This record gives sequence, structure tokens and C-alpha cells, in this order.
Amino acid sequence: MYFPRPYPDEPTLSLFIRAARHLGYAMPRLLLEMLHTDPRRASFTLPFSITDTSRLTKIPCNELMLRHTFFPYVRAFLSSEKTAAIYEDVIAGSSVPYTHFTFLAGSKRNRFYARFCHECVAEDIRRFGEAYWHRKHALPGVFICTEHDIPLLTTDMLAGTVDPRNCDHLPSEMPGNVVKPLLNHDLVREIALESQALLEGRRFSVETLITRYQQLLDLFGGDPPSPRTVDHPAYTALRSFYGDTYLADTNFVWLRGQTIVRHRTRPTPTLPNAFGFTAHKHLLLNIFLDHLLASTKDTV
Ligand SMILES: [Zn+2]
Repeated sequence: MYFPRPYPDEPTLSLFIRAARHLGYAMPRLLLEMLHTDPRRASFTLPFSITDTSRLTKIPCNELMLRHTFFPYVRAFLSSEKTAAIYEDVIAGSSVPYTHFTFLAGSKRNRFYARFCHECVAEDIRRFGEAYWHRKHALPGVFICTEHDIPLLTTDMLAGTVDPRNCDHLPSEMPGNVVKPLLNHDLVREIALESQALLEGRRFSVETLITRYQQLLDLFGGDPPSPRTVDHPAYTALRSFYGDTYLADTNFVWLRGQTIVRHRTRPTPTLPNAFGFTAHKHLLLNIFLDHLLASTKDTV
């Protein structure tokens, strides 16, 4: 039976929107009858119905997960054990792994919305005859298209759970609002490129993170006097590097009591669980550290 194949970097929900049109189905019916999922579970960023999608598109689950879901971004800073567990849960259709994906949709107080690049839309229509959503434009804190170096347009389509009766739009049909630049262009571009690299498979080991975060704390005078990293000068410096508006807009919340690395004199035997951060937070920390290390080198 005919079912469209996903385009490069197309998330599965975008594929389902196109499939419903190609097959003449309403979205709720496609989700229920072909993907065996409750339409209320339809989401832009949470992976669902992977085995059904694999059967319909004849693309292996592994390939779908890596090229058409946000799994590579979510796992980029997690241990291999945790990554394997999340993968298995997603394939099994368990609701357990979704907690690892929810940050991609924002929070209750600050929801994220699907974004697109109008140049990419024009190119996709020229190349494929139709527009589609791209994963790389939907990542937290990414506000420009790296391909065309122009600001993305934001829509009123939620990045998380969507109303299946009203989520059948492709970007060419959505009015888009320009996202106001919250950072200087070079930094916005760097965040977008690095985010995309995670989506394309770049990963950090937990051991590397421990070393780098210890290095970050050392640059600001060593271990914090208390585990309350929120009071640490490294965090104050990070806030002035990105600015409070950008951090607030991308939900970079640093809870009181949350640590980025365990105290050196009290190494924890459970290193893989030492971080409570999302991929977006890890990425911002690492970009910040790269800039600090480069400026330290310059002044030596
Ligand atoms: Zn573009």
C-alpha cells in the first residue's frame, strides 16, 4: 500500500500530515487506523508509532529514530545505558521516555511553537513539489536557518502535543512571525550549528562532561562553597554571556540546589545520574565554556 516516504530531516508528524493528504484521510483517522495511536497523543516533538511508521514506510526503526525524530538531540549528553533504555521504551510505545522529550515542547508557562524558514519552504516546493517541517528548525533556542542564514518564522502550531483536528498544516500555509533576535548573530548562528550537529549524531560522554564542568568551575575559583550552583559565579557569568531574556525565552531554568558537577572531594559513584540537565542546557554550557577557554588562551 502507498505511504509517502519522509524527506531529509523531516519529523514524523510532518510525514503524517503529508500522508493524510496524499491518502485523503483526516488526521485523526490516519492516526487511529494506520498508526494505531490515540490522536490526542499526536505530537510534533515526542516520537510515537515508530514500529507502525517503519512498517508503512519500509524504513528500519533505527533509521527513523535517528533521521526523523528528536532522539539524537535528546540523547547527545546521556550515557549509553540511558540512551539504550530510552530507545527501547520509544519503540515499545511506552509513555516512560516522554519525560526526556518534553523540554523540546517548552513548559506550561512558556510553550514552544513550530518554526520554519521561508527560503527552505520555497526550495522544498521546487525540489519535492510540497513543503514540509524540518527538525533542525524546531530545536530549543534555534532562531535562524543555518542554510540560508536568515531568521526563522514562528507559527501558532505547538511544538509538543498538538490538536490532531487542527495540526494538518504545512509551513507553506502558515502565517509566520519573525522571531526577534535575542542574541548577536554570530552566537545565534553558533547555537544553531551546534544544535544541528547533535541532531546529526554528535555526542558527549559523561566522563567528558564531568571533566569539562569541573574545568568550568575551576575557572571561577574552584568548587562551589555549597552545591547551590545557582549562587556560583560561573552561573552569573553564563547569565551575562547569553542574557536573561534569551535564557528565559528558551526555558533555561537553573533550579536552586541543582549542581552541574559533584564536589571534587566527594566523587559520586553514580556519575551518569549526576546531571539533571537537558540537551539544550548542556549545549549552552559547553558553548559558554568554549568561549571562556578561547578568551583565557588569548589573554595568556
Ligand atoms: Zn532555510
